[in-house]
This record gives sequence, C-alpha cells and structure tokens, in this order.
Amino acid sequence: MNEPGPDRSARVADAGTVVVVEDDPHIADLVDLYLRRDGFRVLLATDGDRGAELVTQHDPRLVVLDVGLPGATDGFDLCRRLHRDGVPVIMLTARDDEVDRVLGLELGADDYVTKPFSPRELVARVHAVLRRSAHATLPSSPTARIGDIEVDTARHEVRRASVPVALTSREFDLLAHLAAHPGLVLSRRQLLDEVWGAGWVGDERTVDVHVRQLRKKLGDDLPLTTIRNVGYRLG
Ligand code: CA
Repeated sequence: MNEPGPDRSARVADAGTVVVVEDDPHIADLVDLYLRRDGFRVLLATDGDRGAELVTQHDPRLVVLDVGLPGATDGFDLCRRLHRDGVPVIMLTARDDEVDRVLGLELGADDYVTKPFSPRELVARVHAVLRRSAHATLPSSPTARIGDIEVDTARHEVRRASVPVALTSREFDLLAHLAAHPGLVLSRRQLLDEVWGAGWVGDERTVDVHVRQLRKKLGDDLPLTTIRNVGYRLG
C-alpha cells in the first residue's frame, strides 16, 4: 500500500481510515484537513467508482460521500451499496431536494450535512456515527437500556425504572427494534417492513398509533423523537 508518508509520521493518534468521495477539490481539501487533524487517515476519491474501489481496498471505518458525483456511480448508488455492506456513511448534500431524496429513499445513510457546512460540524458527526456504529457491533446483549427503560428481549419484557410495563407484542417488537438502532432515524416504511414484515399491507400511520401507545405507557422516560416527515429516532 502506498500511504501518504508525511501524515503517517506526523500522526501518533490513529483514529482509523475514512474514505471521502467528493469531486469538489475545495470541499475535499477542507474535509481532508479537518479529519486528519483529528487523527484520521483520509483517502480521497473524486468519483463513485474510485470511491467504491478505495472502500474495498482499505475497509474504512466510515465514508463521507457527496451526493452529486461525476461518472456512472452517483452518491445515491454508492450509499446503497455501502449500507448493504455495513459501512457507515455520512452524505454531503448540496440542495434541499437532495436532502429530501437522502431521507426519502432510505438509502441507509447514517447522517447527512448540507453544504455549505462547517468542517467542525462534519467531524463531530463523524465521531457521533462512529460511536453509534461501535455500539451496534458490540456482541448483542439481550437487554437494551435507554435511559431508565430496559428492553429485555430474552424475557420479552420492558421495565421502566425496574418495574415491568405491559406492552402488546407489536409494541414490544417496535420498541425492541428502535432500541436495537439507538440514535438512528428510522422511517415509518422501514419500521413497517422490519417490525410488521415486508409483506404487511397497510398505512404508515399504523406506526404512529403504536408510537403513541408506547409514549403513553412509558411517558417522558422514553427518549423517542419524531422526525417530521420522516420517522422516529430513539435515544
Ligand atoms: Ca459534487
């Protein structure tokens, strides 16, 4: 591997490798600079195919991915592929309609920032996504804890401040699914597919109805946020 030498010697801290796929050289440089400052090894690609190649070769911890890229593979395509392979992705979007697509297409992006963005903000999000994905890859514990609430999948039981709360089995499944993806925004469609099953036919408001029940039963102890026009995030 040909690694950029100066950085290897200049950096003691090794926060891991991040692949940045961005065709605008100014933005790429800025992102590169800030990530390196934080101890990341940064590999740059200016189109989607090269980005995919770098990911395959270097197995990065995370990919920062521009939506609008030249060539056959745009950011949406690559994001889908990376999500399938379990690589965390932060999307860089230029316009509101791109944001809508990022959120609406359920590409599996872990987060996004809209240009122009502050590089500090991006780096903070990189750390946040890495923290979350580190949690997600820990050996799965049968009990998830969200604040005062415990979701015990082994016993199929939810406890609030150690006191069991009676939930229907669908409410339990919904909560367990949200608890298995802490900090991630899950769309109503995703929740329907993953909790109710892909074959389930029905209205997305079904999810809202069950969320309302969960909120009623678990109250303010449930750190469940409604993301307008998108879905829900727990934790
Ligand atoms: Ca671009």
